[in-house]
Amino acid sequence: MHVVVIGGGPAGMMAAGQAAKAGADVTLLERNERLGKKLAITGKGRGNVTNTADTESMIAQYPGNGIFLYGPLYRFTNEDLRRFFLELGVPTVEERGGRVFPQSQRAQDLGTALESFMSEHGVKICKGNRVTALLTKAGYIQGVKCGGVTYPADAVIVATGGSSYPATGSTGDGYTLAKQVGHTVVTPRPALVPLETVETWVKDVTGVALKNVEAKVTVNGRTIAEEFGEMLFTHYGLSGPIILTVSREAVVALAKNQRPQVHLNLKPALSPEQLDARLLRDFEKNLRKQFKNSLNDLLPQRLIEPIITLSGISPELPVHQISKVQRQALLATLTNLTLHVKGMRSLREAIVTAGGVAVKELHPTTMESKIIQGLYFAGEVIDVDGNTGGYNLQAAFSTGYVAGLSAAERNK
Ligand SMILES: Cc1cc2nc3c(=O)[nH]c(=O)nc-3n(C[C@H](O)[C@H](O)[C@H](O)COP(=O)(O)OP(=O)(O)OC[C@H]3O[C@@H](n4cnc5c(N)ncnc54)[C@H](O)[C@@H]3O)c2cc1C
Repeated sequence: MHVVVIGGGPAGMMAAGQAAKAGADVTLLERNERLGKKLAITGKGRGNVTNTADTESMIAQYPGNGIFLYGPLYRFTNEDLRRFFLELGVPTVEERGGRVFPQSQRAQDLGTALESFMSEHGVKICKGNRVTALLTKAGYIQGVKCGGVTYPADAVIVATGGSSYPATGSTGDGYTLAKQVGHTVVTPRPALVPLETVETWVKDVTGVALKNVEAKVTVNGRTIAEEFGEMLFTHYGLSGPIILTVSREAVVALAKNQRPQVHLNLKPALSPEQLDARLLRDFEKNLRKQFKNSLNDLLPQRLIEPIITLSGISPELPVHQISKVQRQALLATLTNLTLHVKGMRSLREAIVTAGGVAVKELHPTTMESKIIQGLYFAGEVIDVDGNTGGYNLQAAFSTGYVAGLSAAERNK
């Protein structure tokens, strides 16, 4: 059985290694000179490889076709993945929110482990050439064309990734290859993408990161998404984990020409009464100071100026002169800091691509194409995408595992 795997990302490396372990003669073709370029930058270089959520809860974390992942996620679970890496010498640790990282805190170690797994099972690796065509005959896969050379194959696994962060090698080639052989490709669009805001004051607070805040996205007063956690101000708007997560609904609203708004609650742990009491205490402490010098305990230094401006209270006003109405205005600014979304960053800056090879054309238990026999898909090239928290890598590994084994066991 000769299996060709296209793409040396997490899905492709897992698929190639598993197929070889199961006895197939495997060749992996990677266009870059290096494998796992994107994997190495995941989780800010720390590699949030999976999540400890149980499989049912995990499926809910894939707003893009979670149900399709039911089989792969049960067949190769988060625990299987952690054990897999542990056996390869990469123990993992759980952090806040069930996020799992290599104990070494180096995403690079995941790639190195996958490379040694492939080498142990004899996978042949060809780097530096791009696959440009799938070769088929009468509905069966025959091989691929790569760098002008034909690679015959009994089974081919397309694991070329999506089209975000193209500098890592994933430029959407898998979509073209799939279309060439008759597959439907659901239009790729950014998912988990930073948002651009109308408000330009964000530029002055670029780099300010906030923890334990709440972001709510509304359209015409209706809440369409809500998240609690960390976020980041950027020169164009908003980013960071909770913004990336709520971006999905904001992107959909933008596509419908709606005008989504993001409402930030900077103090969600406090009720309005508790926050008011807290403000009173802070003011009490700073009675002789000007308003602008009274918020140091409450807010990060760089955020004080924009919050004061938005509250409409004069920065020079002595604290003892602040009225109840003004205090309520400050409270409203802190709990409902509203930003108008005017757009999103491009697909290039998206963490994952939504859309891809239509799941209805794939067998969910094997990842095999329903159109071309012997052709398989794995990873982000498929129309599945998950939230932040390790879900996208788990999906890549689980679908890679299933595709690799199924390809190797084909015709047995
Ligand atoms: C900045 C960033 C941080 C992220 N952090 C996390 C995280 O912490 N946790 C998480 O779960 N997810 C994270 N993700 C998402 C995750 O990295 C992807 O979902 C995952 O890498 C997809 O794996 P894949 O193997 O399908 O595709 P990729 O990792 O994109 O790999 C595809 C490979 O195929 C190769 N290729 C493409 N076309 C061809 C061709 N024609 N011929 C030959 N080779 C080809 C590419 O060069 C590439 O090496 C992050 C993404 C980004 C951009």
